Amino acid sequence: MPHHSYLMPHGPDFAKVRKDMSTLFEELSRVTTYEYTEDDVRGFETLYEEIRELKKQRNAVIVAHNYYRPEILKVADFVGDSLELALMAANVKDADIIEFCGVHFMAETAKIVNPSRTVLLPNLLAGCQLADSAPAEQLAARIAELKQQYDDLAVVSYVNTTAAVKALSDIIVTSANAAKVVRTLPNKNILFVPDRNLASHVAQQVTDKNIIPWEGFCYVHQQITPAEVQRIREADPELEILVHPECRPDVAKLADAVLSTSGMVKWAKERPASRFLVVTECGLSDRLAMEVPDKTFVKGCKLCTFMKVTTLEDVRDSLRDVKYEIEVPEEIRLPADRALQRMFEATSG
Ligand code: SF4
Repeated sequence: MPHHSYLMPHGPDFAKVRKDMSTLFEELSRVTTYEYTEDDVRGFETLYEEIRELKKQRNAVIVAHNYYRPEILKVADFVGDSLELALMAANVKDADIIEFCGVHFMAETAKIVNPSRTVLLPNLLAGCQLADSAPAEQLAARIAELKQQYDDLAVVSYVNTTAAVKALSDIIVTSANAAKVVRTLPNKNILFVPDRNLASHVAQQVTDKNIIPWEGFCYVHQQITPAEVQRIREADPELEILVHPECRPDVAKLADAVLSTSGMVKWAKERPASRFLVVTECGLSDRLAMEVPDKTFVKGCKLCTFMKVTTLEDVRDSLRDVKYEIEVPEEIRLPADRALQRMFEATSG
């Protein structure tokens, strides 16, 4: 059985497939919605049968991120955002295999919280540019440097980080709880990793801390410009604008609300407004349209290639060949788990 860990994006496998990836980027960057022919759907039905059979044979559970391709969401046992998937993975007791249809850092998180299960990522190209913008060695060096200056330094990492980065962190946050978690810390000086835009959003909400951002960003959210949002708003002034905190601060400034994925779902359900512009990855507009069918969601979104690279065939092959197994060495898993557990404690109650 092949074993893969820490492959993205600098590992040898990634270098081999970089060419395929750039073609895919080109193809997928033109897509914001999936449309399938009858032939495609017939093909999916055959694959669904094979996948269901393999799932039984392997005693597997399939979990999928809600940015994944719709035909994969259909065959998943559980669909959610990265935090929901981590919590779900932690509670898998009966299945031997967690077939993780997400990106690499999320599959690692599943392994961190549930080490006794086999965690499979069906396609190794499913990395995350934001997580990869903070290599662990560079972070370790930056922490050592800042600790000379600030003896109370706390390292706060977004869940979109590798296991090795989580292991160097004092506590983990999500976009939904980042400000709340930072407020609970006694430390004044906070190194916030890896998203500079989320760091800036937290700094605006928690003004009594010194938030030192790591200069990383998500290429999907970074592509969205204020001019684009303005243009859509001018064409339809009734729209309420919801922006994800991974977007640039000049885009966030135009928002009626800056919200995490779960925050957007709650906001759209509770607000009297009926039309929203959703500024984030495209998959969320689809989830909102499904969960809040009586309202309209205009797409001001970009598509994450990493989230769309995995196909149903990959899921079938992964279950058939038990690949690609995600492993996290214990010396990394244990401190990473501690940082995650601190977040769960800080946000419970
Ligand atoms: S949308 Fe951005 S943060 Fe999310 S997986 Fe894609 S590259 Fe990573």
